Amino acid sequence: MPICPKCKENVEFLNYSSNNYDNGEFSIDKNGFKKYDKDGNSDLIEPDLFFGCPECNEELDFDEQQAEEFLREKDELQEIVAEKLKQIKEKNVSNL
Ligand SMILES: [Zn+2]
Repeated sequence: MPICPKCKENVEFLNYSSNNYDNGEFSIDKNGFKKYDKDGNSDLIEPDLFFGCPECNEELDFDEQQAEEFLREKDELQEIVAEKLKQIKEKNVSNL
C-alpha cells in the first residue's frame, strides 16, 4: 500500500480537490486505471488538481501523473514482491 510521505500512514487513495470540481477520492482500480469517485470521467478533470492525504489531510505536492504513479508504483512493488515470493516458494518445492 502506498505510504504518505508526510505522516507515513498507509493510504489506498488520495483526496483530490480542484477549483472547478467537487472534492473526492482518487485511486487506482483493480485493473490499474486511475479512478475518480465522482463521475469517473477523468477527461473532465482539469489539470489544476490538488491531492491530499486522507489520513493527515496534508496537501501533497503531486500533479495528476505523480499522484497516479504514487498509487500505482506501490502496487507494482507489492506485485513484484508477491511474484518473487512465489518464485522462491516454487524453487524450494522443486529442490525437494
Ligand atoms: Zn498523510
